[in-house]
Amino acid sequence: MSYSITGHTRLTGLLGSPVAHSISPLMHNKSFQALGLDYVYLCFDIKENQLKSAVEALKLLNVRGFNCTMPDKTKMCELADRLSPAARIIGAVNTVVNEDGILTGHNTDGIGYIQSLFETGFSVAKKHITLLGAGGAATAICVQAALDGAASIHVFNRHGRSWNHAQNLVDSINRNTPCHAELFDLMDESSLKSSIHDSDLLTNATPIGMAPNEKLSPIPSSKFLHESLLVSDIIYNPRETLFMRQAKERGCKTFNGLYMLLYQGAEAFRIWTGQQMPIQLIKETYFS
Ligand code: NAP
Repeated sequence: MSYSITGHTRLTGLLGSPVAHSISPLMHNKSFQALGLDYVYLCFDIKENQLKSAVEALKLLNVRGFNCTMPDKTKMCELADRLSPAARIIGAVNTVVNEDGILTGHNTDGIGYIQSLFETGFSVAKKHITLLGAGGAATAICVQAALDGAASIHVFNRHGRSWNHAQNLVDSINRNTPCHAELFDLMDESSLKSSIHDSDLLTNATPIGMAPNEKLSPIPSSKFLHESLLVSDIIYNPRETLFMRQAKERGCKTFNGLYMLLYQGAEAFRIWTGQQMPIQLIKETYFS
């Protein structure tokens, strides 16, 4: 099928910094083309202090919508006219849709992660989860897992920037869902060991191990793991982190962040176009 930009083409894109490495333009443009949709997706390198002006400009240009990545996800909450329930609870926006000049902020990270778990045949319902990190992505995962029926979630974070937010997050989950959530210091090795021992799923949602820091792992030793544990790292660069290798060494089933990336994008695509992304085609083209 031929693909050309017309006078009617709707613009979508990605705001953040850096963005040039992103796979999102490939997967969205390929999907628009495959479905014959008159849309295009571009990347814009926007620093946090430029976000407000960029969002105003995109609104004026009547774009269909855009994604935001680090460091813009939290700030975008203040700039959206409305927030989806998930974006409000999470306190971060990764997808914006423009409907007649009204910008609604969504967060598709949690849905994307849960969908990526389904790929491995794992459902969070009634499961015990140890989650490392309490930033934007971890919060989205935590909220969605609690809403989807996880029995317990132990959040481990360093005693720093996100600590108060993490405390509010676990309090809110305990107040609003049947899931039992608890916060621990990532440095508390004995609690970490015992939480992992009792868990079905261990998820790294910190950037520890992400390029260029490939030699780092969020856990002190592979001895913390057991072979019936499903271990996931939401990092996808590198495809296999040290944490993943430690888990494989212990005989754990593992998966990286690529399918989370795919499914959070698929949900954004659905929000903008009302259509399902051609998942199989995108997997075969960019994720195999
Ligand atoms: P974020 O909001 O900045 O949160 C990062 C979290 O990790 C915070 O809890 C932070 O704690 C903690 N952390 C950072 N560096 C640490 C260190 N050296 N030691 C201990 N804890 C540390 O970032 P995010 O948006 O959640 O992203 C986190 C990771 O997920 C990134 O690698 C990102 O690329 C990846 N991600 C993947 C997908 C996907 O689709 N696969 C989607 C979103 C994000 P403090 O607050 O105390 O610093």
